[in-house]
Amino acid sequence: MLVDSHCHLDRLKLENHDDALDAAISEAGARGVSAMLCVCISDENRAAVLDIAQRFPQVYASVGVHPTDVTDAVVSEAALLEWAQSPKVVALGETGLDYYYTKDSAEVQQASFANHLRVGAKTGLPIIVHTRDAREDTLRLIREHGSTESAGVLHCFTENWEMAKQAIELGYYISFSGIVTFKNAVELKDVAKRVPADRILVETDSPYLAPVPYRGKPNEPKYVREVAEYVAELRGVSFDALAEQTSANFYALFNKASSA
Ligand SMILES: [Zn+2]
Ligand SMILES: [Zn+2]
Repeated sequence: MLVDSHCHLDRLKLENHDDALDAAISEAGARGVSAMLCVCISDENRAAVLDIAQRFPQVYASVGVHPTDVTDAVVSEAALLEWAQSPKVVALGETGLDYYYTKDSAEVQQASFANHLRVGAKTGLPIIVHTRDAREDTLRLIREHGSTESAGVLHCFTENWEMAKQAIELGYYISFSGIVTFKNAVELKDVAKRVPADRILVETDSPYLAPVPYRGKPNEPKYVREVAEYVAELRGVSFDALAEQTSANFYALFNKASSA
């Protein structure tokens, strides 16, 4: 069993599958991927994400606004609370801070992130955090507005061990994508070795960031296997052990998802 803890199924490039999402999901299943979390990025794609989660029993959903999609009309706590009522929603996000692409909007990104964290604290829903070039502010906002009960995951992690360590102390999980397989990701490979076994997750973030040997090609959930194989080797454990551990971690964190 293997879980893709973060993918964007509504954005997959499906040319190789006759435009059929069913085909991509069943190919993933054939490679052991028994569940996936389809992540919302804005109010605009929310309906598509929820619709996919309704259609496929093995797909769960999140609701939230991605930091690079935040506008001056920051999503309110009331709206997030309402969105979170939909069936199969197991998390809030992706939210967070991205100062690499959109530093200009730092202020509204912080307001949006804080609202997600507060709704997480109220509902107990875990938070899917996207963080890039914003280490201090990310950790500060989690401390100020989050709660340990609704701790979440730093997804597609690309920061350093010091940040991972502090997030882990706040109850967070660390999720690795195909980036960890890239040759130049030297520091990240070291982080992937050091994260405690009970806090590690794997993801594709598809359709982006396909792992080696598919780097540069459209990514899809079936390639979470390559990510898991690579991380297992880095950590000196078997693929089966890593797959089992990351799946158990997924259901421990996103505890509204059922492994049944
Ligand atoms: Zn992200
Ligand atoms: Zn994402």
